Amino acid sequence: MSHNNALFARARHHIPGGVNSPVRAFGSVGGTPRFFARGEGAHVWDVDGRRYIDYVGSWGPLILGHAHPAVLEAVMRAARDGLSFGAPTAAEVDLADLLCERVPSMQQVRLVSSGTEATMSAIRLARGFTGRDKLVKFEGCYHGHADSLLVKAGSGLLTFGNPSSAGVPAAVAADTIVLPYNDVAALEAVFSEQGDRIAALIVEPIAGNMNLIQPSPAFVTAMRALTEAHGAVLIYDEVMTGFRVGPQCAQGLHGIKPDLTCLGKVVGGGMPLAAFGGRADIMARLAPLGPVYQAGTLSGNPVAVAAGLATLQEIDRPGFFEALGQRTTELVEGLSKEAANQGLAFSAQAVGGMFGIYFSATVPQGFADVMASDRDNFNLFFHAMLEQGVYLAPSAFEAGFVSACHGTEELEMTFVAAKRAFDQIRR
Ligand code: PLP
Repeated sequence: MSHNNALFARARHHIPGGVNSPVRAFGSVGGTPRFFARGEGAHVWDVDGRRYIDYVGSWGPLILGHAHPAVLEAVMRAARDGLSFGAPTAAEVDLADLLCERVPSMQQVRLVSSGTEATMSAIRLARGFTGRDKLVKFEGCYHGHADSLLVKAGSGLLTFGNPSSAGVPAAVAADTIVLPYNDVAALEAVFSEQGDRIAALIVEPIAGNMNLIQPSPAFVTAMRALTEAHGAVLIYDEVMTGFRVGPQCAQGLHGIKPDLTCLGKVVGGGMPLAAFGGRADIMARLAPLGPVYQAGTLSGNPVAVAAGLATLQEIDRPGFFEALGQRTTELVEGLSKEAANQGLAFSAQAVGGMFGIYFSATVPQGFADVMASDRDNFNLFFHAMLEQGVYLAPSAFEAGFVSACHGTEELEMTFVAAKRAFDQIRR
């Protein structure tokens, strides 16, 4: 038995399912998850010493690749001065300044330790600010695992959510309204019926948790206009897209100013750090200034802040996003070309350093389209790529990520592997 498989068997004794976050378990693709021992640049090595080109990047944070020297140096310098104080530090102020400079809608920001904390806190704040309870979210969008967000639409239901995780109280789910992504008519209907009870609308402005789905311009405009007209808080959940799709996040690409923004992943540079922030009048409702409580023992942790600051400084270099976007586009074009050569129903798209690949003839526009793509073919492709040393997200419903370290050599190796993988699944 490989060291990897022995470890997975051992892990299952004391860790439920052998993993500390479910999607790592390879549940939807089958097989044994890889246990990684080391990462450098665009590559990771498993515990048996096998090398992979990594298109997961720790699910998004590692935009500079693994173990970037400037980030490591910043982390080690900060760690030597102490791991945590539970008191303010100068670096937190630097990071807050930088975030508010970079994200035009952000006047004030609070640091937290995970994307879940950021979205959960932003929603509590929106409810405290508006004095309303209802929350609008979209089918297929993931905003972390807070109770009110673990709700997706049952067929045809627009007004009452059904819990999609056991353990979510029905009363909590009842305040979550789930709508189809990109459906302007459904959005207008809900706001005209119950706009005065809606505290917030939360959205992945470019969805990455039902694979990559782009919003239509009409949808983007409608979300801003309707929330503004009805006094609801527009929350852009940019935990995934923040500093991943462009220097001013998805809102910069859309030309939209949300009321609140959630950040995570890239802002922590691979350490547990996230943030939420936005309009100063809303943020002023947060404790200790206002009545909405929110706190954290490790919030603004100095080591995590150091990693975040170093990462943001690196991506600030001129041409960073142009080069990253170019490389990611080359990747999806190359994959599409190989699939077309085999006559497969396949499509792909890229935004900044984020990409989606789909076993469907055209790029999906929403949850239903993604669900209709060929998952069996994805699973075959995934395993054929893995066998050849290319690590993709182990699910047909996740976006992929390219880092600044993915160069021509990695792309060429990926295309060679893809040619063989597509050949194996040819129908
Ligand atoms: N929001 C979005 C858009 C995400 O993609 C994620 C995680 O993937 C989260 C929130 C939750 O972040 P975390 O896993 O750090 O709690």
